[in-house]
Amino acid sequence: MRYELQDGRILTWSLETHVAAHCNLRCVQCCPLSPHLPAWAVEPSALRDDLSRLARALRPNVFKLTGGEPFLHPDLPAVLDAVRASGIASQVSITTNGFLAQSAPDAVYERLDRMTLSVYSSAPLPERSIARITERCEQHQVHLSVKRIDAFQQLTPDTPHDTDEAIRGVHARCWLKVRCHLVHAGRFYACTRPPHVATVLGREYPDMPALGEVDGVTLDTPDLLGQLLGYLERETPLATCRYCLGGDGAWLPHAQLPRAWS
Ligand code: SF4
Ligand code: SF4
Repeated sequence: MRYELQDGRILTWSLETHVAAHCNLRCVQCCPLSPHLPAWAVEPSALRDDLSRLARALRPNVFKLTGGEPFLHPDLPAVLDAVRASGIASQVSITTNGFLAQSAPDAVYERLDRMTLSVYSSAPLPERSIARITERCEQHQVHLSVKRIDAFQQLTPDTPHDTDEAIRGVHARCWLKVRCHLVHAGRFYACTRPPHVATVLGREYPDMPALGEVDGVTLDTPDLLGQLLGYLERETPLATCRYCLGGDGAWLPHAQLPRAWS
């Protein structure tokens, strides 16, 4: 994969951040592993610092507030102001399951350009809620995409890949490394998996390194542009790829984990 530069910044498809790590749903095979993570919400000032540094080297087409469920953040207007102040992207989007979006303050809608509403067959958002969110988006000129989802792709393998060839293959075929770039806690990652996989699976695999620290690029590196470009264009898998199926996983009917899962 080769990336173009414009005005000294790398042009990318999108960049996202996990505004809240936790979620009000418990989807099986949740990509960022939210059902298994403790409650956590990003500090707006810390996000602004991270994005201001990143904005000198990266120009994503759109910046996405994701999670977990972003509407669980206690001060989304402050998060959105931090994103705008950084100048990272001209389009700002939020991805939500919708259960809290219909009653969010106007101050959130006023600060958004786009919303992606994921409606899951295993926990369907009532049609009246979808209608209310549609109405509010129209009122505030927020472009709404409603995605109805009845299947999930398995992302976590039953056991880690045991050969370098298998890991290289998973990484080479993975589309997420181009579409799902993440900024989290002072680091840039090619996908959303590294910060959370060790937190959740480290209990099962004591030899697993601290993937969130091994993978990614730290934003205080002196040559951020060069480091990012090398990281994005390299063919070497991430350490996290050993514990991930990328785009290779089987498609399964959408389902929720029981509340008592541990
Ligand atoms: S709604 Fe999204 S973030 Fe929440 S558990 Fe489901 S897939 Fe994960
Ligand atoms: S860890 Fe590797 S295989 Fe998994 S999503 Fe990221 S780049 Fe793709």
